[in-house]
Amino acid sequence: NQSEDKLIEYMDELEFLAFTAGATVAKRFTQRLTQPDSKTFVGKGKMEEIRDYAKEHNIGTVIFDDELSPSQLKNLEREMEVKILDRTNLILDIFAQRAQTSYARTQVELAQYQYLLPRLTRMWTHLERQKGGIGMRGPGETEIETDRRIIRDRITLLKDKLKIIDKQMGTQRQNRGKTVRTALVGYTNVGKSTLMNALSKSEVFAENKLFATLDTTVRKVVIGNLPFLLTDTVGFIRKLPTQLVESFKSTLDEVREADLLIHVVDISHESFEDHINSVNEILQEIDAHRKPMIMVFNKIDDFSYEKKDEDDLTPGSNKNISLDEWKKTWMAKSKFPTVFISALTKENFPEMKKLIYDEVLRIHISRFPYND
Ligand code: GDP
Repeated sequence: NQSEDKLIEYMDELEFLAFTAGATVAKRFTQRLTQPDSKTFVGKGKMEEIRDYAKEHNIGTVIFDDELSPSQLKNLEREMEVKILDRTNLILDIFAQRAQTSYARTQVELAQYQYLLPRLTRMWTHLERQKGGIGMRGPGETEIETDRRIIRDRITLLKDKLKIIDKQMGTQRQNRGKTVRTALVGYTNVGKSTLMNALSKSEVFAENKLFATLDTTVRKVVIGNLPFLLTDTVGFIRKLPTQLVESFKSTLDEVREADLLIHVVDISHESFEDHINSVNEILQEIDAHRKPMIMVFNKIDDFSYEKKDEDDLTPGSNKNISLDEWKKTWMAKSKFPTVFISALTKENFPEMKKLIYDEVLRIHISRFPYND
């Protein structure tokens, strides 16, 4: 059952996100609804089931795989009496943990405040109820208003700070002159940093967790005497919080201003087709979808399959697919130049380098028209 598989994959990803944030998952709950309950996201019965389980097993946090509305969050927290996290909050938390430079920290802080602002009331409605509501509403409201104002001021301040840095970074990008700029894009954890290291011989942090890279690194790479710039960008993910897309503007500007995108795909992941779609959607969102692109299908060393017919590679237990076999799959028939590699074992690197070289050279020549 395909939608059943999807559900499991989504929950796997959520669990991986939770693991990255430092949590251990005790149990998963799923529910099939035509649309989420407007008050509690899940239905009443399911909510009680989760609440009872959490109580019985001393669970401190319940995580939902979607962005909850402010009122859903408030209702769930009141009914369940545990900490409620939604997907956005979880991703923001991971970003906050991983932000290394003051620039990344500023971006994450801004996104966090933007997330918090419409959700501020929930802390106060508890209080108002305890105090009996009427009569206490005045001071309660004032406090919320004060808090809201403080947060709004902080948001303005952070935006100003980012504007200044964005401007500096924009100037930096301009100063790179006419050198061809390429950017690695792809879903999170597909091997972008590993590939960056392999191509530029530098040491970029690579780890089997989500979002190891928050800050962009730009490296100069030379293939066959042709120098160009290579940027590693933040990994994309399904349902990337919109607050983050906005505040990571400058990081994404590297992608927007690149001459060539190198789209890395983790072919060993069962949802790699969904990942390609998510990446393409975000590229569209930031208006970078019309750029020249190379598709790099990575981790061929880790792909196992069941052979059913000539062109079909169904996931299974066999390993060692020959490059010739890869080139017969639908992936090879993409409208973009395509290559199959392993960034780990460096298998088929010469072919990938040749492909990148050809594309970079084409752009380089178009920029320096020696012939006219
Ligand atoms: P990024 O988030 O896209 O930058 O991904 P990373 O470069 O941090 O890699 C994520 C994980 O995948 C790390 O554990 C890498 O060691 C692993 N990895 C990267 N490339 C390959 C590959 O070609 N084969 C295998 N088996 N693992 C890889």
